[in-house]
Amino acid sequence: MDCIFCKIIAGTIPSAKAYEDDQTYAFADIDPKAPVHLLIVPKKHIPSLAEADAGDTAVLGHLHAVARKLATEHNLSAGYRTVINTGPDGGQTVSHLHVHLLGGRQMHWPPG
Ligand code: 5GP
Ligand code: ZN
Repeated sequence: MDCIFCKIIAGTIPSAKAYEDDQTYAFADIDPKAPVHLLIVPKKHIPSLAEADAGDTAVLGHLHAVARKLATEHNLSAGYRTVINTGPDGGQTVSHLHVHLLGGRQMHWPPG
């Protein structure tokens, strides 16, 4: 499958790993938008949140539990932002579901 994040999970494309378990893989974003910018992805290829099904509910929760754990490890006690971009209007550019964990600076609202 020609999916960049599946290749990162498989190790055929290098990444700066932040966390791994049987369901998830987390790594540093190659183009960080904040001092801490990690991507947490399911090892299963789910193209987007819109294409997740009922059987994916547990892994969707687990991705967020991993984000919380990584936020603690990266000392983001002042807060952080988790983001899932979905589809063209959502600004999704890689078609493998991922949670962005952004922190280390003040975030703004509304997002662009
Ligand atoms: P999206 O725009 O789909 O929500 O987020 C995709 C993210 O993947 C972007 O923040 C982009 O910088 C990151 N990205 C794209 N290609 C690579 C890559 O090869 N390695 C890493 N580490 N991040 C990537
Ligand atoms: Zn994939």
